[in-house]
Amino acid sequence: MGKSTRYIFVTGGVASSLGKGIAAAGLGTLLIQRGVSAEIMKLDPYLNVDPGTMSPFQHGEVFVTDDGAETDLDLGHYERFLDKPTSKLNSVTAGQVYENVIRKERRGDYLGSTVQVIPHITDEVKRRILATAREKKPDVLLIEIGGTVGDIESLPFLEAIRQFPYDVGKENCLFLHLTLLPYISASGESKTKPTQHSVKALREIGIQPAGLILRTEHAMDASQRRKIAMFCNVEERAVFESVNVNVIYEVPLMLHRQGLDEWACRKLGIESSEAHIGEWEDLIARINSARQDVRIGVVGKYIELNDAYISIYESLKAAAYHEGARIEIVKIDSEQSPDQLETALAEVDGVLIPGGFGPRGIEGKIFAATWAREHDVPYFGICLGMQVAMIAFARSVCGIADANSTEFNEHTSNPVIDLMTTQKAVLNLGGTMRLGMYPMKIKKGTRAESVYKAADAQERHRHRYEVNNSYRPRLEEMGMVISGTFEETDLVEMIELKDHPWYVGCQFHPEFQSRPLKPHPLFKGFVASAITRRKTTTARSARA
Ligand code: GLN
Repeated sequence: MGKSTRYIFVTGGVASSLGKGIAAAGLGTLLIQRGVSAEIMKLDPYLNVDPGTMSPFQHGEVFVTDDGAETDLDLGHYERFLDKPTSKLNSVTAGQVYENVIRKERRGDYLGSTVQVIPHITDEVKRRILATAREKKPDVLLIEIGGTVGDIESLPFLEAIRQFPYDVGKENCLFLHLTLLPYISASGESKTKPTQHSVKALREIGIQPAGLILRTEHAMDASQRRKIAMFCNVEERAVFESVNVNVIYEVPLMLHRQGLDEWACRKLGIESSEAHIGEWEDLIARINSARQDVRIGVVGKYIELNDAYISIYESLKAAAYHEGARIEIVKIDSEQSPDQLETALAEVDGVLIPGGFGPRGIEGKIFAATWAREHDVPYFGICLGMQVAMIAFARSVCGIADANSTEFNEHTSNPVIDLMTTQKAVLNLGGTMRLGMYPMKIKKGTRAESVYKAADAQERHRHRYEVNNSYRPRLEEMGMVISGTFEETDLVEMIELKDHPWYVGCQFHPEFQSRPLKPHPLFKGFVASAITRRKTTTARSARA
């Protein structure tokens, strides 16, 4: 391909949470499978500068990129589908846009002119889209606009993308709109009116979509398709549907069957090969033929929210798919009593404690980490999950009864997890976290080495606290193995126990680099170990 970048804008209508990010990522995957290089970025209309400080209740997971940007969870979908790392450039929020415009205004860059949404905010949005295209040079840049058409917040973004074709050429831009086709069970039919209204709202601001993707529970029939095409001013051929699927990784295949990728390439004048979707088809076949069951308990405090641990769940599933297993993820609330926790833990084949912040639910997590250690149940502690494993070990194996993290008890006399001295200085200056990619040195002869099959690795981080090095000798003496470190400042990156089927903790977030077609080795190892446990306990209870 080469030459200039083409742009596909994906907007949403009728309702949020229809899976716009997944549809956009699905199309991106198909383009890549056709030999067209694709990148994808998200424009988020909220005023937070990034989702780093937003509550998981409101915003779900914070996805961290290699370069340490704290971004929207849709970037996780992008990486899992497109199998390439995203960066700061892939995520733009209204907060960043306004912040930059106001900074320029203060600096006098606008030479005294009145600073307005149009053109200053819209120009800044366009500048960022172009900067991503310039930097990453994709054949196609997909741009997902967060929110729903009709929201006040999205207006400046929509106005910017309305103008965009005038800057780069109409023939280089394609607008796709995703809406809902609701099914009314009382009358037994799907209704096209909300879609008609949503497209009307988009046209009112000057955007005529070229294609539509309708989220629907029931497949559309020919007459509905005709009706939508006619009322919404799009070719019948360009009315696509996204029917509910069991696994999100079926979405690209479903869109491909309808010819979305072929249509998009034709519209943009892109010559490409047929899409090579074999790997994705194999994945779905593997998922559908899996017979071995495995249950993983995830202990956390946002457990009722699917989105708060989405990359963890997707990584667990990917590992299970790889092992040919059907996974059941059991969400265990860390704020329960020890008795309740024990009952819940006894039902699972492996325990995972994900990342987290703040003291709520901490004692429950420490209990779970201790329980898994004592009962030889595979344990995987990620970030906070590694820290609680360390605290649990210090308390019950090293006899340091009040071991804690200064995050949960500032005045603990045994801060096994603490801020490092260098960090304390930075923190006072308003710096915050260790974010993004750092290299890890892997210790020879450890499980970490056998899993990674390497002497080093690169992993993404998002945390403040560290294992306190002054406790390391005592912990190691009692059997805790420090299997990975960040050499430059001598920080603990990974821990493990020898006499345990799988007791592993990592200070970083492997879930951000795990892919459905390439599950992360630590998730694979953990899930494989949980499957082994499942098989032995089932065999034992069958004999009994
Ligand atoms: N709260 C812990 C810290 O800041 C762990 C962070 C995390 O789990 N992401 O170090």
